Amino acid sequence: MSIDRRSIFFDLTRAEVLARGCVQPDAGRCVQCGICSHNCPLGLDVRAYAWRGIPITDSQCLTCGQCVARCPRGALEFVPLRPET
Ligand code: SF4
Ligand code: SF4
Repeated sequence: MSIDRRSIFFDLTRAEVLARGCVQPDAGRCVQCGICSHNCPLGLDVRAYAWRGIPITDSQCLTCGQCVARCPRGALEFVPLRPET
């Protein structure tokens, strides 16, 4: 099933995003510029997650979308953690 991840982020409430999704980096697109980490309001080291290509599952993540929106390489996106019911 094709999923429009951008619409998932903008259409769901924050609580729904927190329950269903997280930020997933694409390590192959990341150039380690650090813009994501610089713009994270909580100071999460998004770049380190991107380096390893692992989802940001830190419980402090607000799913605010700043890192996703600011990444110049489109290396970050929201993905669902489990299928919608
Ligand atoms: S802003 Fe994008 S390209 Fe830059 S370090 Fe973060 S994920 Fe990588
Ligand atoms: S979604 Fe917001 S709080 Fe979570 S890592 Fe990105 S900038 Fe930080």
